[in-house]
Amino acid sequence: MPLDVTGLGLDALAARVRAWLEDHLPAHWRDAALTGDRHALAAIARDDAVTRAWYAELGDSGLATAGWPVEHGGLGLAADGVAVVADELARLHAGRPMSDFVGVALAGPTIVEWGTDEQKRRFLRPLALGEHRWCQLFSEPGAGSDLAALTTRATRCADGDWVVDGQKVWSSFSDRADYGLLMARTDPGRAKHRGITYFLLDMRSPGVEVRPLRQLNGQSEFGEVFLTDVMVPDTDRLGRENQGWAVAMTTLAQERSGLSGRPGVGPGRADALAARARDTGAWDDPLLRDRILRAFVAERVLQMTTVRAFADLGRREPGAEGSIRKLAHGTLDATLGLLATEVEPGGAVAHDPADGDAEAALDAFLSGKILSIAGGTSEIQRNIIGERVLGLPRDRDPYADVPFAERPRG
Ligand SMILES: Cc1cc2nc3c(=O)[nH]c(=O)nc-3n(C[C@H](O)[C@H](O)[C@H](O)COP(=O)(O)OP(=O)(O)OC[C@H]3O[C@@H](n4cnc5c(N)ncnc54)[C@H](O)[C@@H]3O)c2cc1C
Repeated sequence: MPLDVTGLGLDALAARVRAWLEDHLPAHWRDAALTGDRHALAAIARDDAVTRAWYAELGDSGLATAGWPVEHGGLGLAADGVAVVADELARLHAGRPMSDFVGVALAGPTIVEWGTDEQKRRFLRPLALGEHRWCQLFSEPGAGSDLAALTTRATRCADGDWVVDGQKVWSSFSDRADYGLLMARTDPGRAKHRGITYFLLDMRSPGVEVRPLRQLNGQSEFGEVFLTDVMVPDTDRLGRENQGWAVAMTTLAQERSGLSGRPGVGPGRADALAARARDTGAWDDPLLRDRILRAFVAERVLQMTTVRAFADLGRREPGAEGSIRKLAHGTLDATLGLLATEVEPGGAVAHDPADGDAEAALDAFLSGKILSIAGGTSEIQRNIIGERVLGLPRDRDPYADVPFAERPRG
């Protein structure tokens, strides 16, 4: 039953959501969140029965997908309302985990915009209730920044369905995904961006093989996905044949915006770093202190910019300006990761595994480059800002109108 939030201002919305969450979240979860008990929260995150039941209840309330239209299980809130809900969920660690980012933040809005009625019925509700997990099958070994260079091939069969062959890579959470957002080339006789189609791939289809990749930070968040003679029904095509690039733009804009931090001004990672520096004594180093304070200022500026961007977004879809925040967030994350190790003397190389703070510092360092690569690298964000925000001349592609099959490779 969706929570009734009609006509509420932002403060009243926050109060309503907070009251509902405190009332409905299992008591041990709420207590662990309010006391900041990291071990208890980690144990809850591993407890599939508890999380599944909670995500179903949260989804039913509309709070997991607050920006979606009401008829599709959301609350129909504008961007600033969605941010208020996200803050309340974060306060109690009660929102959907990062592994659901592709589903809730990318697949949902893309299906809302481009899906047929049947696709909306099939996919949106299970997604909101946490029943389906999604991954994003865009990048390939030869197509990352230059995504339109993808060569995974989807060929039409006589009955109108498709057979897909190719390889994807860096596909986050693909080892546990039920569905994948898949881009494949359907007409190599057309120019690069014009012969691509977008599909909703059932990851349990025969011919889909996922091989996890081990990352620098020790996790295996993403994997390679091999697709061999995979049958995809035409009913799982999202948008029109050969027009998948336009559909992908919706997904990518949502991704840039979603990876740019939540709006809200207040203590952030730099504050925590400063507090830790006082504990370890690193604060006494004036040069390090200066760099922490610069990071503090950069974080506050990013927070305020995000608040302004969300207020301006209203019900509009995020556009190219999201690249500004994505770039700033990626840069800040890398800086904070580096500073974290300097604040933990020796912690990065020889920490006691029981020392959670030192372990977190090492992880922050090793994961510090993620945000300047995932969802489009910082260089690509600079290109987008230059061309689409500042209106600078576009990078010329002399082969823009040449059929993909006839383009020189490399
Ligand atoms: C943690 C993580 C999770 C990811 N999850 C997913 C996922 O779920 N699904 C998915 O499809 N992909 C995912 N990716 C892949 C990500 O989208 C790509 O890594 C990214 O787009 C860059 O592509 P690439 O790795 O092929 O690098 P390349 O495109 O080969 O780039 C190499 C270098 O060249 C620079 N460069 C390239 N072109 C230009 C240009 N025109 N101008 C200036 N500089 C340029 C780049 O900035 C980069 O520094 C993930 C990546 C990471 C790190």
